[in-house]
Amino acid sequence: MDFNDTLEEAAFRAEARAWLEANAPKPTAAKRGDAAHLAAAKVWQAKKAAAGYAQIAWPKEWGGGGGTPIQSIIFAQEESKYAQNYSYFQIGLGMCVPTVMAFGDEETKQRFVGPAVRGEEIWCQLFSEPSAGSDVAGVRTRAVRDGGDWVINGQKVWTSGAHYSDFGIVLVRTNPDVPKHKGLTMFWLNMKSRGVEVRPIHQMSGGRDFNEVYFTDVRVKDSQRLGPVDDGWRVALVTLMNERLAVGGGADVDYSTILRLARELRTETGPALADPAFREKLADWFVQSEVPKARSAKSSPPTNCRISATQQSRCRISTASSATPPWRRWRQPSNQASCRPQACASPGARMRS
Ligand SMILES: Cc1cc2nc3c(=O)[nH]c(=O)nc-3n(C[C@H](O)[C@H](O)[C@H](O)COP(=O)(O)OP(=O)(O)OC[C@H]3O[C@@H](n4cnc5c(N)ncnc54)[C@H](O)[C@@H]3O)c2cc1C
Repeated sequence: MDFNDTLEEAAFRAEARAWLEANAPKPTAAKRGDAAHLAAAKVWQAKKAAAGYAQIAWPKEWGGGGGTPIQSIIFAQEESKYAQNYSYFQIGLGMCVPTVMAFGDEETKQRFVGPAVRGEEIWCQLFSEPSAGSDVAGVRTRAVRDGGDWVINGQKVWTSGAHYSDFGIVLVRTNPDVPKHKGLTMFWLNMKSRGVEVRPIHQMSGGRDFNEVYFTDVRVKDSQRLGPVDDGWRVALVTLMNERLAVGGGADVDYSTILRLARELRTETGPALADPAFREKLADWFVQSEVPKARSAKSSPPTNCRISATQQSRCRISTASSATPPWRRWRQPSNQASCRPQACASPGARMRS
């Protein structure tokens, strides 16, 4: 895969760079999770939306930029250089809102898509449970019909951003008497609903990104259902396939700077870059940063809110089967010709397959 820009992509990159240079927020002392940091992130999201840079590949009618997935990746690469860690909207725009767009009725879509794109409302994904992590179809949180409503009881865990989210999509069990994949249903819900309790999970790093979320007799209307009753597994697959696109496509590591530093840094045996163990490590990092880019670029659909689970799986398979050979050759530290510093300084040039 060739990561070098085409002429059109180079023109878009130049345009994005100029816009970011003129508009990107200046660094502040606010830390991620602070109210001031979240407020600044919302202002930035609104500014991007107004300029058509918020959801570049989405149609304009939904507040997007009407552009291409590759343009989204280019913009994310350029935006990452301003490193504000304003990723509060990623789960909503990458996973939850596309699910609402795929399964919600017209009124629901009109109500939620615009505010999410403009950063006015934040969404979280309520899937994982203590006994349903990798095996998410094992969820035990129950929803029971009560007239025109459903009543939810149970517990979710690892819910990123639940503490600052306005809405969420929740996967619940509506039929315990059928095989586990067949008794699930998806709903959207207001995180401020009565009976929703968010409890923080404190990380040993000092961070606070995840939560436990408890549901005690939480009432949701049947109109909040996304997809048919007991067909939530299919809905969840669409969310999870979109998750594959939403994570890992953005930040671009500046390897030319890293290589310059590695050439300048002296170790006991000479420049760090001459050390085979260091070169091996650097090659590993390079691969780790390039693989998500390749995966994201290869699996990006024309508009990432409309792809089916089957299409995404096909993309995934084609990515996995074609991804390995170039860097296997490149990472051999003894082969000077295949890892020349000047060549490494242009990662895109190394990645042609
Ligand atoms: C950064 C981050 C953010 C997250 N945010 C969210 C969120 O917002 N919302 C949400 O719902 N979830 C979220 N999760 C949870 C995540 O999506 C998974 O559900 C969860 O990490 C996996 O569940 P678990 O921790 O219970 O691990 P387990 O499912 O217990 O797995 C533990 C280990 O056992 C392995 N394993 C499990 N089953 C098998 C098997 N049958 N055979 C072989 N090996 C097996 C797994 O591969 C893993 O290595 C987040 C996770 C991370 C890391």
